[in-house]
Amino acid sequence: MTTFDFAARLARAREALAAQGCDVLLLSLGADLPYFTGYRAMPLERLTMLVVPVAGPAVLVVPALEAPRVTPCPGAFDIAPWQEGEDPLALVAARCRGVRRPAIGDTTWAKFLLALQERLPDAAFGPASAVTGGLRVRKEPAELALLRAASAAADRVAVRLAATEFSGKTERRLSAEVAALVVEEGHEAATFAIVGAGPHGASPHHEAGDRVIRTGDAVVVDFGGRWEGYHSDITRTFFVGEPPARFREVYDTVRAAQQAGVAAAGPGVPAQEVDRAARRVITAAGFGEFFIHRTGHGIGLEEHEAPYIIEGDTTLLEAGMVFSVEPGIYLPGEFGVRIEDIVAVTPSGADRLNEAPRDLIQVA
Ligand code: ZN
Ligand code: ZN
Ligand code: ZN
Repeated sequence: MTTFDFAARLARAREALAAQGCDVLLLSLGADLPYFTGYRAMPLERLTMLVVPVAGPAVLVVPALEAPRVTPCPGAFDIAPWQEGEDPLALVAARCRGVRRPAIGDTTWAKFLLALQERLPDAAFGPASAVTGGLRVRKEPAELALLRAASAAADRVAVRLAATEFSGKTERRLSAEVAALVVEEGHEAATFAIVGAGPHGASPHHEAGDRVIRTGDAVVVDFGGRWEGYHSDITRTFFVGEPPARFREVYDTVRAAQQAGVAAAGPGVPAQEVDRAARRVITAAGFGEFFIHRTGHGIGLEEHEAPYIIEGDTTLLEAGMVFSVEPGIYLPGEFGVRIEDIVAVTPSGADRLNEAPRDLIQVA
């Protein structure tokens, strides 16, 4: 297992807290908590909350029955287990006396925030992402290594998939096979496996169903898994049998758009420029109205996180930022095509973390 310097991360969080004029960071469900502690809380009704005062020791308030799952990290945070029947919000509130500007995790359950607001009536709560986002968006070398390992495993799945027989299987069955391959190739779990065959491919997030895949279908396969907490996410579009000219035209357009997006990425480039570069190619080919989503999203401890590759996101890309470039064309009633790779910004440009072939792949 990779180990991270949680004490150093917490020190940076305190600096960011101070810079934002906040006095405490409160983290519950979501990816911020494992980023600072290595512990991912179960999404259950018992409260888990890391309390990080701008000055003073950090404390993880955790249900006693879940405390054994926490790896202690003395010098970074203390562990305060609470017993059944105890009031965990009182433990948190006691550590927040006098605070005015808490930053609370964006995906904390509303019931906990509402209860805390009642107990800390003078506090004006703000989102933790304003404090943590700037830290998480630039990946450390050890995080990049995990994202690379996850992407390489996803590539192996894509390559094995190209040798698989598609026709005669339902989308659901192929999706289950993909999920199994994701685990076989070393992920700790598959997180999703979208299979959209024929006209279903025109719905970007189609849920695999009972449609039987047959010759003449384009099949969009988008899948990912978790590797030591870090995510992979790749899309390849296959064609069952001999693709007609119209499919080739659309496929080549998406492939060129994806290449243009990757080529546009680099340090100092606004995130929206990557979207523009990909979109320009698709629009020029006359398919602009059929590219119905943003070009990409950041990835790390979450499948979707900052930066977002979309018009209006002016985040200047920096070395260490990692995101998807995944343009698509979706023709209602006909088919869809999407090609997705994860890329990492380097000091001089951007590196693809996915290298599975992007040529038009015919399957049986
Ligand atoms: Zn998606
Ligand atoms: Zn995807
Ligand atoms: Zn994606």
